[in-house]
Amino acid sequence: MNSVMQCLYHTCTLAERLKKLENDKTLGRVLMATVKVMADLHYHRNMRESITHLKRVVGQKDSVYRDSEQKEAHDFLCQMLVWLDEDTTLSSKEGEEAEKNGKRVSFIASLFHGTHLSTITCEKEPKVDIITNEESFSNLSLTLTRPTTLQEALKQYYQPQGLEWDCDRCHTEHDCQHKISLTKAPPVLVLHLNRSSASPNSEHKLRVRYPLDLVVDVNSAGSSKRYYSLFAVCCHSGTMHSGHYTALCRTGEQWYHFNDTHVSPIALEDVLHKPAAHILFYEAKE
Ligand SMILES: [Zn+2]
Repeated sequence: MNSVMQCLYHTCTLAERLKKLENDKTLGRVLMATVKVMADLHYHRNMRESITHLKRVVGQKDSVYRDSEQKEAHDFLCQMLVWLDEDTTLSSKEGEEAEKNGKRVSFIASLFHGTHLSTITCEKEPKVDIITNEESFSNLSLTLTRPTTLQEALKQYYQPQGLEWDCDRCHTEHDCQHKISLTKAPPVLVLHLNRSSASPNSEHKLRVRYPLDLVVDVNSAGSSKRYYSLFAVCCHSGTMHSGHYTALCRTGEQWYHFNDTHVSPIALEDVLHKPAAHILFYEAKE
């Protein structure tokens, strides 16, 4: 939990927005608890109390978070982004305004949410789409089966896949093709390196090489590129079922390793070669 909160705190645009809410007493409970944790991080205060409070609040939202067992960081992050999105949508004035116009806006969504176009095509008439759907996402979970690079894993993620589908054209269930393409890349791109099927019980992690600067292809009204820079890494050491989380975060040009209460500077080349890298946080360069 601490390492995820460190990564969120180092998401500058998010931290700035949350800082402005410090004295707002009308916030939703998860948002208010998060603002308190962020304030402790900002003023370099001991965050034991605010973290305990956040645990209590999320425990009330979902019983999974009620005990003191360590939780899977990616699950926790996904859930936090949902709750924070709900709380920021409800509490903000601009949110209310947008709601009236039938448009939902939250600064969580505007920072983290990207859009996919999901298309299913019939093999017999591959040029005709059966179903196209716009889907928003707050992060991408990349399933890894072998050592690879982040760029390869992303390419794999957007490869067309076979899918057993009840085809509207043929009126039978048969193999169709499912393709996802990225139509809107978010300002903050969160990538989860999912090794669970490859090495569930092993402490030996599949290596993934990830770059400081990432280029992502976007396919909306033609093809374009979005350029990203790495600013935080949530690391997990140990097996899937137990282990320890730490965070690597960039402040200005310097990277730091956050290991519970211990903070130490770390060289960039060491940041980029962490076998324990679990969640990568990239921000778009404007
Ligand atoms: Zn068909």
